[in-house]
Amino acid sequence: MLFDTHCHLQFNAYKDDADEVYKKCAEKGVLLNVVGSQRDTSKRAIAYAEKYPDVYATVGLHPIHLLSAEVDEEEVNFKSREEKFDYDLYKKLAEHPKVIAIGECGLELYHLPKGVDEKSAIQIQTEAFIGQYKLAQELNLPLVIHVRSAHRQMIDLLSSLSPLPRGVVHCFTSNWNIAKEYLDLGLYLGFTGVITFPAKKTDPKPQEELLEVVKNCPLDRILTETDAPYLAPQKYRGQRCEPWMVEEVATKIAEIKKLAVEEVMEKAFKNALKLFAKIHF
Ligand SMILES: [Zn+2]
Ligand SMILES: [Zn+2]
Repeated sequence: MLFDTHCHLQFNAYKDDADEVYKKCAEKGVLLNVVGSQRDTSKRAIAYAEKYPDVYATVGLHPIHLLSAEVDEEEVNFKSREEKFDYDLYKKLAEHPKVIAIGECGLELYHLPKGVDEKSAIQIQTEAFIGQYKLAQELNLPLVIHVRSAHRQMIDLLSSLSPLPRGVVHCFTSNWNIAKEYLDLGLYLGFTGVITFPAKKTDPKPQEELLEVVKNCPLDRILTETDAPYLAPQKYRGQRCEPWMVEEVATKIAEIKKLAVEEVMEKAFKNALKLFAKIHF
């Protein structure tokens, strides 16, 4: 069994063939957590969880949707709708029996709209994150945390919260010092196909550092994910990523940690069931 703990099967990239993609995942024994990014994609995540067995949903508001900007989320350029976090609306969604977490929520300084400075972006994103943290606390759900170019700010923010949230820092791509701080806060780290990419010849350090994180991270704190439709693993690079490709991520973790792939799959699967405790598998 494998768990793709973070994918976006509800995005437009699969609008014509989500059924077939799901079928391929089911055949390979891959469970899915379909993660929302704003209200429409959160509602669609629930619709997919209702439609397919072994598919679960996460609902929340991604930081890129807090500010209006040109982004390329669903593989089409669109103007991201500016949405404020509506606690009651997301609470209603999150009470669905197949909603297993809140998110993705977090801090994103990589895609900043023109004319918005870092400080005000962080302020707006922090407010939405705290709202989702409170909702997660109220419903006893974990957080799916998105962080890009803002690890220092996120670690400071998390450290200021009491109680600390349960959750996962998804698509982790930083170094061991940063990873260790998240692990010390009790969080899981989610790894995607990025760990299968070759190091850049001109700048190999980021990839070397990422592989060091995989090597050092205790196996009981690792989750496997794809972030499909993005980030297809190296074997399928250039293609649309699909959740069943999560197998490549487990294989790479096993290779780095010098473990049997079956052991990595089994442990990562158990970790997901432990974090997403609402699943009765
Ligand atoms: Zn993300
Ligand atoms: Zn995502």
